[in-house]
Amino acid sequence: MRFGIGHDVHRLVRGRPLILGGVAIPHKKGLLGHSDADVLTHAIADALFGAAGLGDIGRHFPDSDPAFKGADSIELLKTAYKKVQKAGFYFNNLDAVIIAEKPKLADFMVEMEKNLAEALETNPSKINIKATTTEGLGFEGKKRGISAWAIVSIVSTKKPTTGEGK
Ligand code: MG
Repeated sequence: MRFGIGHDVHRLVRGRPLILGGVAIPHKKGLLGHSDADVLTHAIADALFGAAGLGDIGRHFPDSDPAFKGADSIELLKTAYKKVQKAGFYFNNLDAVIIAEKPKLADFMVEMEKNLAEALETNPSKINIKATTTEGLGFEGKKRGISAWAIVSIVSTKKPTTGEGK
């Protein structure tokens, strides 16, 4: 079993949709970014790459590449998982937390987990998404941005050999 951690931050601005876990959430502001700026899905992709030892999301989907302008991050996550599978691993489980003062996200969690489970070719029971506020503290608390943390575990498809784990 291997683990990876992911963290991402995007700025909240007017005139952008708010997409989290592939769900469009009604809000007066949205996240700014080259892609759809889905901060949760980016943190998850980073955790997945980290677990597999494949670097980070910026290495695989550079924000200087016009191909990723306005990109659907759930599609990027699907591609990320294909790369992880190719490297010899399959997804085990995911836990993540979104840090946002507003809006309230509880009503959207089931749909987020469904989208993420589909991208990771797994069952929603292996995906856990949480949300918290920071009680007004920091950039999230001041509603200037939203951040997310994720941890992902993956399992090797290869048989353990002598020395594995060293
Ligand atoms: Mg990002």
